[in-house]
Amino acid sequence: DALADYRGHPGLAFRIEFRVRSEGGRYPWFELRATMIGDGDEADRCLGLMADVTTRKESEAAIIDRTLRDPLTGLGNRVALMEELERLGKRGIDAAFAVLDIDRFKSVNDVHGHDVGDEVLKCVAAIGRQQLREVDVLARWGGEEFIIVASVTTLDEMAVIAERVRRAIAREKIEPVGHISASFGVGQYRAGETHKDPLKRVDDAPHMAKKAGRHRVQG
Ligand code: GH3
Ligand code: MG
Ligand code: MG
Repeated sequence: DALADYRGHPGLAFRIEFRVRSEGGRYPWFELRATMIGDGDEADRCLGLMADVTTRKESEAAIIDRTLRDPLTGLGNRVALMEELERLGKRGIDAAFAVLDIDRFKSVNDVHGHDVGDEVLKCVAAIGRQQLREVDVLARWGGEEFIIVASVTTLDEMAVIAERVRRAIAREKIEPVGHISASFGVGQYRAGETHKDPLKRVDDAPHMAKKAGRHRVQG
């Protein structure tokens, strides 16, 4: 089927990658590099080389995964989040988002050490993930800051979601630290905006929540 587009173009060289189902539930990748042969409309055959490229495709996928995933929490990273916002923008979908900033996290590191701090970050990531729908995005923006993105969601709805995550974090006793809290800023992403506009706006929102006394959701 893939060859249909090339039929009738003698001399046309092309490269196709495809995967097939094979025994044992494997899906090996193949690459075909070929040239159409024959005269005019009769060019309906190709001469080429086919190779199993499964190993290359798997290492490419692993590299892409590494560039998009935060290794500590397993969440998407900043790059993955930017790509998600760009995808939403291109498809013309409005979204709401929240920035989560852990309160007084520096003192967790200072009192209990960096490794415990890391465990707290993992714990917050897991709690956030539990409270969100599968379609919602939770990414690590950097340090002790996370971002939630929910498409087709209003600002009010996002405030409710952020409130739910805030309460879930406060409820959890994280040993040996005990209870922690987080501050949230919420904002809206309108289709057509570049991803930089709303993120700049929302960058200030957690700081407003901090000023207002922390452990709260700020619009
Ligand atoms: P605030 O309540 O105002 O948010 O105070 P804060 O202490 O949470 O904020 P601040 O920005 O002063 O400190 C953030 C700290 O997060 C500083 C840095 O050491 C720590 N941090 C950033 N990334 C990591 C990480 O990957 N692991 C650990 N353990 N700590 C991190
Ligand atoms: Mg911060
Ligand atoms: Mg903080």
